[in-house]
Amino acid sequence: MINQTENKFLDISKLLAGETDEIVFDRSDIPFPFEEEISVSSLHFSGRVFRFSEFVRLSGTVTGEYSAPCARCLAPVKEPFSIAVDCAVGNAPDESDEETVTADGQVIDPESISQETVLIHLPLRLLCREDCKGLCPKCGMDLNSGSCGCAQKEIDPRLAGLADFFKD
Ligand SMILES: [Zn+2]
Ligand SMILES: [Zn+2]
Repeated sequence: MINQTENKFLDISKLLAGETDEIVFDRSDIPFPFEEEISVSSLHFSGRVFRFSEFVRLSGTVTGEYSAPCARCLAPVKEPFSIAVDCAVGNAPDESDEETVTADGQVIDPESISQETVLIHLPLRLLCREDCKGLCPKCGMDLNSGSCGCAQKEIDPRLAGLADFFKD
């Protein structure tokens, strides 16, 4: 086993040459360079590259923290995440649609693998809690902290005619 925690890029030449059967790595404080509505911090990627029969595989875990305003009430939300990574390196063993990491020569870049993994799994929105009631569209009050009185009086205009119909 070779530990390449200190290297920016993983050199897999010894693995390909059969001189080792496993390379382990651990990266902290990876930047997240994409401009997204949800920001990512504390990005961390640890794992191993190993031989699996005649193929090379990469297996690990990407962790970090999402932060964004709640999509309903705008309160700041932070949410830790953990994503498992397991993919073939180089050419996938068969024509399956399995995710494949391309080794640029005999080098793997764990930073870009983790960044792209997070980007693919990025949620569309964060909620402060699953049943967040959001803000009143009329007065802007945070409905999680009570009722403002205007929301309940709203009648869907499509149903207003129906209400008239049942009045008699
Ligand atoms: Zn909320
Ligand atoms: Zn209101």
